[in-house]
Amino acid sequence: MTKIPTPLGESQNIATSLARVREGLSKAARAVGRSAEGVTLIAVSKTHGVEAVRAAIAANQRHFGENRVQEAEEKFPILKAAHPDVVLHLIGPLQTNKAKEAVSLFDVIHTLDRPKLAEKLKDEMAKQNRHLPCFVQVNTGREPQKAGIAIEDLGAFVALCRDQYKLPVVGLMCIPPVADEPSPHFAFLRKLAQEQRLSQLSMGMSSDAELAVRLGATHVRVGSSIFGQRNQGQESISES
Ligand SMILES: *Cc1c(COP(=O)(O)O)cnc(C)c1O
Repeated sequence: MTKIPTPLGESQNIATSLARVREGLSKAARAVGRSAEGVTLIAVSKTHGVEAVRAAIAANQRHFGENRVQEAEEKFPILKAAHPDVVLHLIGPLQTNKAKEAVSLFDVIHTLDRPKLAEKLKDEMAKQNRHLPCFVQVNTGREPQKAGIAIEDLGAFVALCRDQYKLPVVGLMCIPPVADEPSPHFAFLRKLAQEQRLSQLSMGMSSDAELAVRLGATHVRVGSSIFGQRNQGQESISES
């Protein structure tokens, strides 16, 4: 299902898709008495080229998400130089040996999920004097293969990150199991965040972003609804 439209057609598609996604999120926010400004739309540009990101920037999109450090390094330095107000979110698992590059390029980290990574990020942020807001990723579906801190370890982990390491922990993030109905996971993440006195929630993707907003998401991560389907071959290497 690889589609190869003309560049002009593609940028129009992206602008149109972005408008549709924004409209849906605004409606969802209003439906539960929230303001649309309380929801940050992160356009997930993984596997898509610089031109696609430029088209989104031209349509006033500023928050972008990438899940691999190396791919982001190939695309974003030039884009950020041209558009200093672009905010780049790391939404994929981070290896400690890439923490240095991640702290230097990204602006927000959504995948803080283990003590070793927390320690490394604390050191790197101090070294670079770049204190990036972090979301703690929670493995709400208890999936053995999935990243994220175990639910029962969350309290101690947040305390370690926030109180001991002084990391700017702003909220929680989750990726519900693909086979599950997502709403119980979103509702649960919200409850966990309240318990930890964290105000931000990174949850919801193309298929369930509006639902996530109705359940309190402050950050939704939307890829295919904006940029179109990803190439399957690239998808398989999409986790670093
Ligand atoms: C790829 C990805 C998304 C976006 O997925 P879509 O279904 O294309 O919207 C959101 N969150 C994470 C963590 C991802 O890796």
